[in-house]
Amino acid sequence: MIVSTDAVVLHAMKYSDTSKIVTLYTREYGKIKVVAKGARSNKSTFGSSLEPMTHSSVIFYKKEHKDLHLLSKSEIVTPMYRLATDGDKLQAGFAVIELLDVVMHSEEKSENIFQLVVQSLHLLDRSEKNFRNVFIAFAVHLFRHLGYELSLERCSRCDRSIETETNRQVKILFASGAYVCSHCAPDEHSDALGISIGAVRSLLHSSGSDAETLFRLEIGRQMSDEIIQLIQMYLHYHVPGARTLRSLAML
Ligand SMILES: [Zn+2]
Repeated sequence: MIVSTDAVVLHAMKYSDTSKIVTLYTREYGKIKVVAKGARSNKSTFGSSLEPMTHSSVIFYKKEHKDLHLLSKSEIVTPMYRLATDGDKLQAGFAVIELLDVVMHSEEKSENIFQLVVQSLHLLDRSEKNFRNVFIAFAVHLFRHLGYELSLERCSRCDRSIETETNRQVKILFASGAYVCSHCAPDEHSDALGISIGAVRSLLHSSGSDAETLFRLEIGRQMSDEIIQLIQMYLHYHVPGARTLRSLAML
């Protein structure tokens, strides 16, 4: 069956002397793998549409009950020329697509997640600083779409608002993604991460902001390291066997 859809390129690897195997997150079919024959040749019609992070429109031959499909055509939908102008920006972009690649199962379609990843990459393309913020906001929204939302506004035990928290250190429970205030210590046997209240507030701001606020939001290095660690641990808790994200280590 010949099908056509929009896609974001998650990963590309060499295959034979001339071809590539490309992992795509598609709007209509979720995550799929395709063979792009001749993609490594200079005369390839695919051009740079199969580079990671590219938003492309693809046509492929979808084989039933197979994991690998055959790409016939691919072209860039909206170029993001500024993604590669800064090493840190590029790294944040890699973290976005690597996280998506790790959490998505094959052929699991989600319009919300497709829009989220396209928007996040375009935001990164536009951004001039604080690139990590875009990744952090992406991760928070992705967790929500996947059904394991972080819920940080109010203590999950006593409903106290986080705005009234006076302790510098609070806990986040992995199972529920909930914040527990300093008055309500979690059970000793529940998996939880201690995190600074500043990091939690930054996490809340980055995920609830419009683009311009997100770009301006200054999160100190130490706090953003705490947030990245939380994202990584939360991911491991909810996606057993998920590999450690290489791009996060470099972010
Ligand atoms: Zn409480």
